[in-house]
Amino acid sequence: MRSVTDRAVYSKVVVCAGRETARLARSVGLSLPVRLAAHVRLTFDVKAAAPARVACLQDSSGVFGEIGVYATPLPGNSSYSVGLSDTVGVRDDGTFIDPAAIRSLDERAREYVTRALPGLHPEPRDFLHCWVTDLPWSEDGVAVWEAGSVLFVAGHNLFKQAPALGRALARAATGGGLRAELTPEARLGEAQS
Ligand SMILES: Cc1cc2nc3c(=O)[nH]c(=O)nc-3n(C[C@H](O)[C@H](O)[C@H](O)COP(=O)(O)OP(=O)(O)OC[C@H]3O[C@@H](n4cnc5c(N)ncnc54)[C@H](O)[C@@H]3O)c2cc1C
Repeated sequence: MRSVTDRAVYSKVVVCAGRETARLARSVGLSLPVRLAAHVRLTFDVKAAAPARVACLQDSSGVFGEIGVYATPLPGNSSYSVGLSDTVGVRDDGTFIDPAAIRSLDERAREYVTRALPGLHPEPRDFLHCWVTDLPWSEDGVAVWEAGSVLFVAGHNLFKQAPALGRALARAATGGGLRAELTPEARLGEAQS
């Protein structure tokens, strides 16, 4: 392995580099089927005093003009993070296919807040942009590709799977082998019909 200022040799390497994982895997001849996209979530201040308890929100009703909205309070309950489940397309090199598209996600989230969440200030205070790294079989899919002594972890919505994933990767890295359900062929996360 090489970094800017180092060169080191390890018996096993686990690569969990988010959107960079597929690029690093190409260095050893692997082509990971990761679909890269971008997502934005906006932060809105609560108008009144922070309530003691606030609910998370998942609105797929369409009643307020959107069918995929996710919102969650930030610690302290004085602000709320709101985003659409929609994403915008990004090329493998991280460039946007349509640079204006992410702005339309901002606008739609802002308009949704105006219509559906009158307890929030309608102008966002902050924006959080992040990458989505889906596998073809599921938005919640995950798999580990092996190339010799290097393991590449890819997928999306990995926080929920993190405790089990961490243990399985530690086992694989210390000679216990990769669990069968984590191989790409197992398509972990695929909906069962
Ligand atoms: C708004 C939003 C909400 C989400 N909510 C949830 C949720 O509720 N539950 C859930 O399960 N998932 C959620 N996700 C998805 C979750 O964030 C991702 O699936 C998860 O972060 C992916 O983990 P990762 O380790 O693959 O990548 P990342 O979290 O992107 O981590 C990759 C790390 O590798 C580092 N890195 C990159 N290249 C190199 C390199 N060459 N050398 C060293 N380090 C490198 C990066 O700096 C980064 O720290 C959400 C995502 C978004 C955008």
